Amino acid sequence: MSEAGIIGIQVVLAYLPVMHEASLVASLLDILRAEIARRGVRSLSLVRLRCGVLVNVSPQALDMAFTAMSRDTEFAATRLQLITEPLRLACGGCSAEFTAEDFPAALLSPCPECGEEIGHKVLAGRELYIEHIETAD
Ligand SMILES: [Zn+2]
Repeated sequence: MSEAGIIGIQVVLAYLPVMHEASLVASLLDILRAEIARRGVRSLSLVRLRCGVLVNVSPQALDMAFTAMSRDTEFAATRLQLITEPLRLACGGCSAEFTAEDFPAALLSPCPECGEEIGHKVLAGRELYIEHIETAD
């Protein structure tokens, strides 16, 4: 009985992140459909997304969701590229701007100028947008 319970938990943990990416891909496909209709083309060869590290998108899960959801559609041959944007902060003490690598600890990383660790403002890292598309003919 307890083993069955553990399996149940594993399924839920694996399922939730995929749902996040799946709803993202559903929105993306809607946007792409509108875009090819507007341009009068049949499909796209490449879609490049730029995604801030705070959006917390898993490249593997995004890829899986895109492959599954574009199968047998006009985007079956479209290549999806994901570029992760690093976290860029402005210091809460002296307003110096810096890039923090070690996410999520990065939100509290000491300012390289004055050493302040709290109150940093997020300048970049929350965005998610389509940076580039290439049409297929
Ligand atoms: Zn500072």
